[in-house]
Parts: sequence; structure tokens; C-alpha cells
Amino acid sequence: KPNTLPASRYGIRRDAVSNGSRHTVETLQQQGYQAYIVGGAVRDLLAGIPPKDYDVATNATPEQVRRCFRRARIIGRRFQIVHVMMGRETIEVTTFRGSHEAHGNGPAQTDAHGRVLRDNVFGSQQEDAARRDFTVNALYYDPISETVIDYHHGIDDLHNKTLRMIGDPATRYREDPVRMLRAVRLAAKLDLSLDPATRAPIGELAGLIGNVPLSRLFDEMLKLLTSGHALKCLHSLREAGLHHGLLPLLDVILERPAGQRFIQLALENTDRRIREGKPISPGFLFATLLWHEMLAQWETHKADGERPLPALFRAMDSVLETQARTLAITRRVAADIKDIWVLQPRFEQRSGKRPFSLIEQPRFRAGYDFLLLRAQAGEIDHELAAWWTTFLDADGAARSAMLQPPR
Ligand code: ATP
Ligand code: MG
Repeated sequence: KPNTLPASRYGIRRDAVSNGSRHTVETLQQQGYQAYIVGGAVRDLLAGIPPKDYDVATNATPEQVRRCFRRARIIGRRFQIVHVMMGRETIEVTTFRGSHEAHGNGPAQTDAHGRVLRDNVFGSQQEDAARRDFTVNALYYDPISETVIDYHHGIDDLHNKTLRMIGDPATRYREDPVRMLRAVRLAAKLDLSLDPATRAPIGELAGLIGNVPLSRLFDEMLKLLTSGHALKCLHSLREAGLHHGLLPLLDVILERPAGQRFIQLALENTDRRIREGKPISPGFLFATLLWHEMLAQWETHKADGERPLPALFRAMDSVLETQARTLAITRRVAADIKDIWVLQPRFEQRSGKRPFSLIEQPRFRAGYDFLLLRAQAGEIDHELAAWWTTFLDADGAARSAMLQPPR
């Protein structure tokens, strides 16, 4: 009963997909397997957005897939997928997944809140479609026959700009609370509205985010912040009550007038860079999000009579530790954040050798970009930022002439 539709009617042809994904599907089909491009790539193509990467779904087992390609490797133990390398592309190939119940293995293993812990039985294409999250994510594209297979009216939903959960939304959120974050992110990215029934349970179930492994939360949060629609996403997260326990301090920060302006500018800046295809570092991003909380703590320590530098380090450590408990900011990223923060007071020193040694710091560029953002937010004098911009453009002699007399 799935709808099989001619893809050309929806404006996609086989040359719209990457060579690697088309080749992967073709090879699997030649070996007698079913194979389709699936998920985000199909959705994005239909929405007129260039896909970031391609997933392929097949009825071949991981081992069978691996044997079809010269450069392929199986990754993951419990949840095996195959990475097929085609030129510079990596295609993720997944075997159709089914549900535990349907295969007589009893109910899937869940935690006390209904979160599915193991989910790795193979199944039919129909079952595979049913266990995907949203209808628009359950579309299969066969670039050889140029048809789209649609089990859950995803194409209609895409046309009507609706993001709709497959199955009972509350159950699906309990199985995997990250789906609540995905709902917010995908709605923002594709400019869809959440179907009322898909939106309704979120408020009540938001707390379940707390049971998700921190590393997964961090990954999802990073996806959200680097979606090119970060600002919109954060507003929706707040609206849905989903920001608690993610960036717990965001609440506090967004209520400080100075911080609000700063974060808004930072996120606009990030969104612009992403849309222009420029890279963005997680360190810089989190440094901006947490900056005002850090400043507040720094001020408190200084007011208690602590000297500025030790007070700064104590504030940085405490802010990052708090975050680490709710959002697994990796050690690398935490180190980047500190590097950027610790440079900030040093920009105020404009005499002697100090400016020269500051530019030699490995993270100088990020620190300088951060300084510009602070100036833009009205947090520091424009004159200071302008001084550094001129200093960077100047040659050696002109730089020396710019130095201020030592205090
Ligand atoms: P994007 O790549 O733009 O972030 P995406 O939808 O492709 O979005 P992926 O994480 O790449 O997201 O997932 C690929 C596909 O896997 C999805 O389109 C969906 O069909 C399925 N999927 C991903 N995460 C989940 C989930 N938590 N629950 C159910 N299905 C999921
Ligand atoms: Mg994807």
C-alpha cells in the first residue's frame, strides 16, 4: 500500500543526487538487492535544499553490503552500518530495520521512561519506514527508476509545510526524547510547522531530555546551533520549554539585557557564516553562549576581593563544569572556549611587547573575532576594537607607533 510516485513530478531527477549515492544504489541493485536513497537527503531535495550527506537503505545485511564495494567498512557493533567510500564521498548504508515485537523477540528493551535501549533487528522496508521519526523523513528515492516511495504521506506533508510524527507522538518521544529536539531543528530548517498532535506532548515530556546520554545531547545541540537557523531554533526551544537541561544557563543569560544582545549577534553571525558555507568552531560558539554567565561569576569573585586573573580562572572553570554536567562539552571544546575567553582581558593591554606577543597566540584570530562581537554588542568601546583592526593591518613600524605609553 505504499505510494510509488514518479519523482519527476516533484522536480527531482537522478542527476540531482550525488554520484556516490547513485553509484551505491546502482551497485546494490545490480547485485539483486533493494536499495534506495532515504531520509534527510530525499526530504531536502524535494524541498529544494542541497543535501549535506546521503543515506542509503537496503535489504542487504551489513556483511553483504561490504562485499559489494571495494572501499567499505562496517562500523558500530550493536547498530551496524556500512560506510561506503566513493571518491571523496562517504555514503552511509543501513539495512532496513524492524521492530522487536514484530519479530517475536518480545518488547524492545527500554528504560523506566520508555526510552528504547536496543533497537537492532532487521526488517522489511515498510517496517523501516514506520520506525523513522517524521513522515517527511520516511521517503525512499530510487534514482535508477526515478521513483519515490512514500508510506506515510510525507510528500503531502512537505507540500503542506507540516512536520508530523509517524505513529503516536508521545510514545515516539518516550522511545527517544532527542526526537523533540529534532522536531524543533527540522521545523526551523525546512520552515515547517509542527502538526498540533506532534507539538502537543512536548511540553509535558520535555524533562525526558534529561535521560539522554550527554554525548548524544551535545551532538544534537551542535547540529542545532550549526543548522544555519540557530536563532530561530533557540527561540522555539524556549517556547517549547526544551532549553532546560540543555544549556541551563541560557535561561539566565537570555534574561540579562546585555547578554541577550550579545547572544543574538553571535547567533546571527553564526547563521550567516553557515549559510555562506564558512566553517564555524564549536569552541567559538559555546564561548559566546556562555560568556555572560562567565563574566557575572568573574565579577562576583573580584567583588569578593580575589585578584583578577585567579578570579577569571575560577569563573571559567566553574561555568564549564556546570555545563559539563548537563551537556557533554568535550575537553577539546572546553579548552578552546577558555583560550578565547582568557585572551579578552589581554586585548586591553596596548603597550610594550604585549600586543606583539598577543598576535602570536595560536587562538588569536578567534579571540579577535570574539572581541569584535563584544564591540558590536556595545559591551566594549568601539575604539578598542578599531585599534586592533588597524594594528593588524599595519606594518612593523606603524604598529610600534601605535603603542600606548606604559601605565
Ligand atoms: P540532517 O541530516 O539534515 O540533520 P536527517 O533527518 O538526515 O537531518 P540524520 O540524523 O542524518 O538526520 O538521520 C537520517 C534519517 O534517519 C532521518 O531522516 C530519519 O529517517 C532517521 N532518524 C534519525 N534520527 C532518528 C530518530 N531519533 N528516530 C527515528 N528516526 C531517526
Ligand atoms: Mg542526514
